[in-house]
Amino acid sequence: MTGRLTALLTIIALFALFSASHANTSEAAIKAARFAQDEETSRLVFEFSSLPPFTYFTLKNPDRVVIDLQGVDNNYSFSTLDIDSSVIRRIRQSTPKTQNDTRIVIETTKKLSPNLFSLDASNGYDDRLVIELVDPGFVGQGQIVNSAAPNRDKDIIVVIDAGHGGVDPGSVGPAGTYEKRITLSIAKMLESSINKEPGMKAVMTRTGDYYISPNDRPKIAAKAQADLLVSIHADAFTTPQPRGGSVWVLSKGRADSELGRLLEQTERSSELLGAAAEVIEDRDTERYFAETIFNMSMDLSRASSYEISNVMIDEMKGVTKMHKKVPQSASLAVLTAPETPSILVEVGFISNPQEEKNLNWRKHRERLADAMFTSIKAFFKKTPPDGTLWAQWKQNEPQQHKVASGESLSLLAQRYGTSVVKLKSENNLSSDMVRIGQVLTIPSS
Ligand SMILES: [Zn+2]
Repeated sequence: MTGRLTALLTIIALFALFSASHANTSEAAIKAARFAQDEETSRLVFEFSSLPPFTYFTLKNPDRVVIDLQGVDNNYSFSTLDIDSSVIRRIRQSTPKTQNDTRIVIETTKKLSPNLFSLDASNGYDDRLVIELVDPGFVGQGQIVNSAAPNRDKDIIVVIDAGHGGVDPGSVGPAGTYEKRITLSIAKMLESSINKEPGMKAVMTRTGDYYISPNDRPKIAAKAQADLLVSIHADAFTTPQPRGGSVWVLSKGRADSELGRLLEQTERSSELLGAAAEVIEDRDTERYFAETIFNMSMDLSRASSYEISNVMIDEMKGVTKMHKKVPQSASLAVLTAPETPSILVEVGFISNPQEEKNLNWRKHRERLADAMFTSIKAFFKKTPPDGTLWAQWKQNEPQQHKVASGESLSLLAQRYGTSVVKLKSENNLSSDMVRIGQVLTIPSS
């Protein structure tokens, strides 16, 4: 949230304090609540104008998850929220600790360990609090149940998309370099690194010089059940001066920068180039997801796309000048696989004579591919997709918890299903006191 917005909300809150008969100094409010069921995961999302501090704990008899939102107006009604979940009985408000807080109680059908995380405002969404509840007894449709050997060692699938190809050369540099050749070369280097990495697998949208429509590329990602799509391009501009790389994510509206509009145009002209050879398809048949799930997946994929973009920008800075220091957004068909975080990397300006020269240099392309690979690894190390070998590795690592305001040892023991005694001995604590910011190791009970 911007400083100006904070100031504005403070003024509104102060106004409310003076004008209302029941003084209420809550600054934030729940603006929207959504629910989605995705296989075994029930997901609740609350949107706020700015994310409030929150704490949570679980209680037994009946099983429930209690979330306290500090400084949040408790007027939101959950009655319109349509929840169809095997683990959520109902959601309601309860009396908060103080008048300015909101206490939300999620009644569950069994004992669960909730997963709570926040997402910053991006792409038209406000700051969000996400609550995930995973049903441990979930049996998917048509799924073969084999509890003795659960499939927990799937590869992380990265779809690598070499921009353009065939009749669509992409941009052409002043010395005659074709963008489609540069993108394929970097894509193959990245493919080779990924395939050498245990627990990771690369899928290429194209492996040679042929045309694929920008609309068909995300379908390849969806079919491969990809965990990430990286589309590789080289920029071009009408003048030779601009230089540097950039990373793009999907925006809901049209791009608001000149370069973004140019990029959207380039993609459309690629579509036109290929249209002659394409069978026109009915786009409506692509709606394989219920609308809510679709939006929710987009929401989460977008957040991940933004996160990995930032990691990639940091890595690429070591190899090339970056044209933009933050992820850019544009409305690009290639980035629309609903379940797959998708980013587009512009490795530099092929229209800039020096960068064209660099891109023709194998060592430079290797460095670019390495930077991409390092950032992809860093991203998945931090947030490995469920069911993958990397997730299994992460689970075996001791869990860490950073103490937040209002958290005590007994609250943490309850949350992680351990005891205060175990927590103290694991962390060599002599008293029950913990301080904010202290990092505790959680014993694997
Ligand atoms: Zn391109």
